[in-house]
Amino acid sequence: MKTVSILGSTGSVGRSTVDLLQHHKEEYRVNVLTAMSNAGLLAEQADALNARKVVIGDVSLFNELSSLLAHTDIEVDAGRAAIIRSAAEPADWIMAAIVGMAGLEPILAAIGQGTCVAIANKEPLVAAGPMVIEAARKSGATLLPVDSEHNAVFQVFEKDNVSAIERIVLTASGGPFRTWSKEQMDAATPEQAVAHPNWSMGAKISVDSATMMNKALEVIEASYLFDMPPEKIDVLVHPQSVIHSMVEYADGSFLAQLGAPDMRTPITNALGWPKRIATSGQKLDLATLKRLDFEALDTKKFPAVDMARACLKAGPASCIVFNAANEIAVQAFLDREIGFSAIIEVVQALLDKTTQPDVSGLAEIIAFDQSVRDDTTDYINHRLSSGRGRVGS
Ligand code: NAD
Ligand code: MG
Repeated sequence: MKTVSILGSTGSVGRSTVDLLQHHKEEYRVNVLTAMSNAGLLAEQADALNARKVVIGDVSLFNELSSLLAHTDIEVDAGRAAIIRSAAEPADWIMAAIVGMAGLEPILAAIGQGTCVAIANKEPLVAAGPMVIEAARKSGATLLPVDSEHNAVFQVFEKDNVSAIERIVLTASGGPFRTWSKEQMDAATPEQAVAHPNWSMGAKISVDSATMMNKALEVIEASYLFDMPPEKIDVLVHPQSVIHSMVEYADGSFLAQLGAPDMRTPITNALGWPKRIATSGQKLDLATLKRLDFEALDTKKFPAVDMARACLKAGPASCIVFNAANEIAVQAFLDREIGFSAIIEVVQALLDKTTQPDVSGLAEIIAFDQSVRDDTTDYINHRLSSGRGRVGS
């Protein structure tokens, strides 16, 4: 029986992973489940999956979680350090589904044990990709991409034919504002931005999909995961989200992975790997779907992907700025402090100020990431005090 842990089990990807494990109860033993704040759901999941241990990030919720699990022998711990420690507790397969840069140290702890690490949590790959890849090489850990595009590429990437790969094509739904004008986007509300047409996801990634920042982060993620230069990674808008990505080879062949827009497919692929196991998710019916559409990305309306390519060329510090400024700007938008269009403007303003400090070690990465967050908050406060808050530009 394989043992599995889920970091961020109460989130969108975490819940899909729990659903899948309930479908395969006989084959997996659940070791650790972690979450930031939803003690009720965490306790429910741990009970249902008979987990060995739960860890809650918010220490003030320790007592609530303990009393919810008092009738079980499930171990309870709390705090950020406990989450990082729990990621290092032996498991055959660990799902990294925390949101944001907060997942970096847990991912490194999981990788340190040289096991299979399924990575949904893209921000640490964007901000610290070279370090994460090197850590996996050193420990012998296998990184299994869970982001649907990267999982698709992983499935059709011929390792023995890398020199014949012309390009990776990441597909993008285009998000909820694909057909909106710039003026409509300027006035977009958080509710409109999180209403994704195809995927049901956490708030942060939903806003990222609306700005196309999600695709931009994915270009950087793909570059590190598949060791490809930015000019070999293209983005193609495909509103139905059925082709999850493709690899084009020199012989003219495109290899693609198709599936319903349901995260349980890439999660199942990663859980079963290298075997193929049954999903608990939706199946694709192409006859009902009838057609697949494609269009070029409007880079004027959605400049984020070009910004990501520039960051990859500029160096790893720019990728840290790109991610950290975005995390702060997205939260400010969700808190109604800035308008939707201001998200990209804030990120660009912070990129414009970037030097390229040394970010080769973990301490340097964490310190620089924090300094960018502080600068972004100052920049947004300055914007607000000059009266440019809610308005897009
Ligand atoms: P979410 O917000 O729904 O869930 C995040 C999880 O992380 C929750 O369990 C939360 O309690 C926990 N968490 C939040 N902040 C934390 C912190 N500071 N420390 C420890 N734990 C913390 O997010 P999600 O939509 O499930 O996305 C998770 C990650 O997967 C993100 O990086 C996202 O970009 C990526 N991803 C998500 C999807 C999707 O369909 N949702 C698809 C592809 C990739
Ligand atoms: Mg994706």
